[in-house]
Amino acid sequence: MNKSTNPIQIILYSLLLFSLSLLSQPLTVKNLENITKRKIIQKKTICIKQGDTIFSLLQHVGISYNTVQDLLKVPQGNQLTKIKPGSFIVVKWIDSKLQEVRYYSTPLTCSLFAYTDKKHFVYRKIELTPATRLIKKNITIENSLFVSGKKVGLDDKVLLDLMKIFDSCINFAFDLRRNDFFSIVYEEYYIKNKKVATGSILAARFKSKGRTLNAVRYVTKNGQSGYYSTDGQSLEPGFLRTPVEYSHISSGFTDKRLHPVFGIIKPHRAIDYAAPMNTPVKVTGNGTISFIGYQRGYGKVIFVSHSHKITTVYAHLNRYGAQLKQGMHVKRGDIIGYVGMTGSATGPHLHYEFRINGVQKNPLTIKLPYAEKISTQEMPSFLNHSQLLLTKLTGESAGQFALNEQTRQYSTDKKT
Ligand SMILES: [Zn+2]
Repeated sequence: MNKSTNPIQIILYSLLLFSLSLLSQPLTVKNLENITKRKIIQKKTICIKQGDTIFSLLQHVGISYNTVQDLLKVPQGNQLTKIKPGSFIVVKWIDSKLQEVRYYSTPLTCSLFAYTDKKHFVYRKIELTPATRLIKKNITIENSLFVSGKKVGLDDKVLLDLMKIFDSCINFAFDLRRNDFFSIVYEEYYIKNKKVATGSILAARFKSKGRTLNAVRYVTKNGQSGYYSTDGQSLEPGFLRTPVEYSHISSGFTDKRLHPVFGIIKPHRAIDYAAPMNTPVKVTGNGTISFIGYQRGYGKVIFVSHSHKITTVYAHLNRYGAQLKQGMHVKRGDIIGYVGMTGSATGPHLHYEFRINGVQKNPLTIKLPYAEKISTQEMPSFLNHSQLLLTKLTGESAGQFALNEQTRQYSTDKKT
């Protein structure tokens, strides 16, 4: 068969040749000189190690001490004096003249310092938007979750997250049996096809003989993220076990004890956590401040009322958290005060009570209630979201798959 000789193609081809001849110049001696004189931009990516400084790194590629000082004159230049081991810098220079430094404090945040025509450095912050991929992995337990998880290529972060999700329902030290099965869907972030970070687990399933547990990550309309069973029940405890980082328990929960101040036998239905003066005190659950002020014995004290008719009490405070008032809503983990020894106290400590229906219970041993479940108004949206993720868990075999639009809507809300 003859190749077609389309006249239009011939015309186009001639035009192209003609324009190329206009662009290319004859290879004269002068042109050759220009080419050899043309300066080459050099670029190096350096992973920062312990003991590296911006001076040592830049001088190593031939940049002068004075140039580094000029670079640090930029108001944001102090970032470069605090470079962290494990992070990266990318340096560009021409003939020992520094053109640009990019400092990646995380794989997704870059500080750019560029040399301008005006002969000084300018700063610009660059936020990188990674592409999100959903990954599904199946783990069959041989002896431990960590060993079996590593075998299918999961990193420590994902495995620790997985343990946290099921922490309230599985005892990882005793409950796991050979051939128990986990299935998870989680996010990975990529920049230019290179994995830069691991995101959250979006759904997880645990299967053991006759028992199946499902967990789905959901971000509520007010921005709280958490893991829920498929019927919308939270899998996370609603309370922190302890409100303060303490050095030791100076008085436990007891019905009889010799009171150190009054010298009489009195019950102590609370826990006393000895801690240095002004150690921050956290409220243990979401709730409302029902009292804040001074009371005899308690000193500076805060009462917080929670759902399930629970009240927590924080006493002997040195001072209160900033701008706290009666009636104010507080969130689990918020700092509400600082350890002190106001009221009847012989040394700095936090006196902490956990009351149900007004009766003090031992905060160390009581079974803590779960966090709030999904509200009725949000239930349809939750069920829709959960259904979608569960099909990802069951429907497709291990591997990567595209983000469904509806899943993306929820999953891109980063953990708060
Ligand atoms: Zn006490």
